[in-house]
Amino acid sequence: MHCTQCGHANNPGAKFCIECGSRLEERQWQQPESADQGAFTFDGPPQKNGVGLAAFILTMIALPLWIITIVWSISLADASLDETDPEIMALGLAFLLSFLLSLVGLVLGIVGTCLKNRRKGLSIASLCINTCVLLFVIFMMMVGASA
Ligand SMILES: [Zn+2]
Repeated sequence: MHCTQCGHANNPGAKFCIECGSRLEERQWQQPESADQGAFTFDGPPQKNGVGLAAFILTMIALPLWIITIVWSISLADASLDETDPEIMALGLAFLLSFLLSLVGLVLGIVGTCLKNRRKGLSIASLCINTCVLLFVIFMMMVGASA
């Protein structure tokens, strides 16, 4: 271990320099810390994840839209409206919009989860919610198609 003051090579584990008497222990203690700080700026703590936030916002817009679309379609299920009725077309549009929002939310969630050194909470949440929603919708459409 080299002394920080005079550069004298001391025995490993020595607390004081045998040449000049300055403390060696402190230096030894500081070294890994400064190395840590170097790694800190190099790698850094998890940063804000804009992609994850965008994914989460889209998810939060898509969810109530899904609920409206589903409730709306249930309320229209008994009404005998033909397919060119404006309300049916509006419902189709709402469905398409919900689907697109969930899909984009899912893709952004995947992108956000894959980003290095970013907070992943919102991305993973968006990923899970949108996967569940889309699987549920696809399942319901299959059930509806076979019924
Ligand atoms: Zn010394």
